[in-house]
Amino acid sequence: MYRTHTCGELNADYIGQSVKLSGWVQKIRDLGAVIFIDLRDRYGITQLSFNENNSDLLEQARQLGREFVIQAEGKVVERASKNSKIPTGDIEILVEKLILLNSSDIPPFTIEDETDGGEELRMKYRYLDIRRNPVKNNLIFRSKVTRLVRNYLADQGFIDVETPYLIKSTPEGARDFVVPSRMHPGQFYALPQSPQTFKQLLMVGGMDKYVQIVKCFRDEDLRADRQPEFTQIDCEMAFVEQEDILQTFEGLTKHLLKEIHGLEVTDFPRISYDEAMRRYGNDKPDIRFGMTFGDLTQVAKGKGFNVFDQQGAILGIAVPGAASYTRKQIDQITDWVKRPQIGAKGMVYVKYNEDGSFKSSVDKFYTPSDLAEWAKITGAGPGDLILVLSGELDSTRTQLSALRMEMAERLGLRKPDEFAPLWVVDFPLLEWDDETGRYHAMHHPFTAPKPEDAHLLDTDPGKVRANAYDLVLNGNEIGGGSIRIHDKTMQAKMLKLLGFSDEEAAKQFGFLMNAFQYGAPPHGGIAFGLDRLVAILGGQETIRDFIAFPKNNAGRDVMIDAPDTISREQLDELHLRIIE
Ligand code: ASP
Repeated sequence: MYRTHTCGELNADYIGQSVKLSGWVQKIRDLGAVIFIDLRDRYGITQLSFNENNSDLLEQARQLGREFVIQAEGKVVERASKNSKIPTGDIEILVEKLILLNSSDIPPFTIEDETDGGEELRMKYRYLDIRRNPVKNNLIFRSKVTRLVRNYLADQGFIDVETPYLIKSTPEGARDFVVPSRMHPGQFYALPQSPQTFKQLLMVGGMDKYVQIVKCFRDEDLRADRQPEFTQIDCEMAFVEQEDILQTFEGLTKHLLKEIHGLEVTDFPRISYDEAMRRYGNDKPDIRFGMTFGDLTQVAKGKGFNVFDQQGAILGIAVPGAASYTRKQIDQITDWVKRPQIGAKGMVYVKYNEDGSFKSSVDKFYTPSDLAEWAKITGAGPGDLILVLSGELDSTRTQLSALRMEMAERLGLRKPDEFAPLWVVDFPLLEWDDETGRYHAMHHPFTAPKPEDAHLLDTDPGKVRANAYDLVLNGNEIGGGSIRIHDKTMQAKMLKLLGFSDEEAAKQFGFLMNAFQYGAPPHGGIAFGLDRLVAILGGQETIRDFIAFPKNNAGRDVMIDAPDTISREQLDELHLRIIE
């Protein structure tokens, strides 16, 4: 037996007992006549002590180094200088026998909560990084979240079904990762961007309620904090309307917030996509704070200010308590919105002073009563600062949304321990893409139009709203789904609208259309991004920190060094040739 207890378990109750522990040497303090070793395992740290009474042992302990793996046997004794910071801090083990289980090279960074290792180095030696509390605790936290999800959904009657990874394209708007087939020269599997079509087929198969915590693969261009493989909580239900799905998964989210943070959240607000865009310039608004958009387009035009007169949209937000900002601070914000990443041409500000007066960068053109109107529209009060951007509607919304988040960040309004979920509903079914000159499915091609809008499919497809919904938490989309098309004719129509010829549709989705001929029930579902959900519930931003072996921002696994070349023989077997 390697151990009788773990390193996080022993306390004053065990004094006098003989125990055996195994773990890693975290730290050695050699005081000459006595040596203290902090022994670490997943559960905690226990102090081992060696003294002159056994000089052989003392000498043996002196040979150890950081991260050596040892087994120590001895008696639990009360500690002279107690450490109230750790649960085992009242005791130590007076070691009687020490066995070296494995030695260790000096680790490339310190295995401490605050490490000296940079990100790249820690990723290369991720197995050492995982020994550190912050990473270890994140993985334990993730496990807790997935356990809560599984148990909750199992209690609701969901059945866990695995779907295959070697499939053909399931479009979710990204590129496929493909796997060449050795046995079928010139043919390829695609890794699932999601199990979308399979879960729909499970509904046709009568499974009624399906869940799978599943890896998905999307070959997207590099974006910060995206992983080419990520995990979804993927769900589907038969005989449901949108309302049933919203209720079920609001229940799950409430359960998680309660179990993890002890929070009782009231019913989630719902807003339409249009309203989200109008009030927040964003389809995943962070509603932990206000600063909703005021539309100044009507009132700010025609007053002789050329810049505004030429713009499509003039939008403003009221930044609470920021009227006291100095000129320098405001210039800094102006520079911030003009950075190429944001791309605003300029910014207008209005200080609504505590004494009720106004001071703005456009005083020449607007009277105090004009500015009072702006204040009314943006919801500004005395002491607030109104920031205004203008330009083409969509880009102005995007820019002001970024500014709103930035100001919230600067004012400390994005509190990680506050949780503000909401549903965004009524998404457009289709989205026009200028580049390809055709419509794209905003969600995916299997999403059903709202029945009341379906008649517009032939005349004005861009106007059709979908029975699609996103669950948003603190400015992040944590889940999204839709009611599906379950009718073959409608699915065919949809694919046609998306530019698929009949042959292409049959080749790519024939299996689904066939299934729809055999009594497909009405159905719908949702998928949560588990990595992000866990990070947000953990009060953090970076999903990498919650993935055991993540890829870096360039999509590489720097530990195993992947992707990598393969041998000539492998290429031949796969009937592939690299073109230099
Ligand atoms: N398959 C969708 C996705 O991965 C989710 C859903 O519609 O259920 O985003």
